Amino acid sequence: MKAIRFSEAIRLGAMLKPQAYHRMYDAVTGGTCALGAALDAVGMLTKWANVWLWTWTATSGGRCPLCMKWDDFVSSMVIHMNDDHKCTRERIADWVATIEPARSRQKSGSLKRNRALPKKQNGAFDQSPNVKICASYVPT
Ligand SMILES: [Zn+2]
Repeated sequence: MKAIRFSEAIRLGAMLKPQAYHRMYDAVTGGTCALGAALDAVGMLTKWANVWLWTWTATSGGRCPLCMKWDDFVSSMVIHMNDDHKCTRERIADWVATIEPARSRQKSGSLKRNRALPKKQNGAFDQSPNVKICASYVPT
């Protein structure tokens, strides 16, 4: 599955259904809360108990921009803003976007891996210092 940022998923899901409160999905109104909207955007509204894509929201905390309350879990703060302040899901997505991990961090990680395993290009190895160290380990 293609990775989608949590804030983007909330925004997308908000376009699919009306907003709900105190539950992921409200069968009466057909609405979703902010968390439900994010899951709806990736087709997992009914599978959230087994799969939670945005694990960082369960391992890092955040401060409510409205009442300054702190919660150790971003996911709980999203519920707080949705249910207690009745924030729109777009407003919640805006807040999430200010604290969510940058996607570029993952990219630089994979770039480092690629550099450690140089590939032969045009019959010759790239002449960067790293390649000289690694070249003896690359089958020719
Ligand atoms: Zn608050």
